[in-house]
Amino acid sequence: MTLNTNLFRRTILSKLNQHLQENYSISLPREGMRGDRSSLHQLEAVLAFRSDATLEELRNALSRLENGTYGICISCKREIPVEALRMDPAQRLCSTCESRFSHVEVQRSRWPATL
Ligand SMILES: [Zn+2]
Repeated sequence: MTLNTNLFRRTILSKLNQHLQENYSISLPREGMRGDRSSLHQLEAVLAFRSDATLEELRNALSRLENGTYGICISCKREIPVEALRMDPAQRLCSTCESRFSHVEVQRSRWPATL
């Protein structure tokens, strides 16, 4: 299965931009739309000062896009179904692992209901 990573990258970056604008009044530079490393470094800087679960998830998703592990369950290493990624582009567990861990993990932050 080949994921359309460009599509997911764009989705993640637009969520990221919206989150940054709403919560920090900052926007990623235009070249950030390619998901290059400088935008990731900016995120690291924000995260150094603020603990933000949503930001962290989006940042992690971008890192996984960069290193080619996007769409692969971090627990069992199986592919996460595209439908699950469409619902939550920052998804990093397959449904089996998510249900297995959901009761032990701290509740993951969800996208705002307005999205
Ligand atoms: Zn899994």
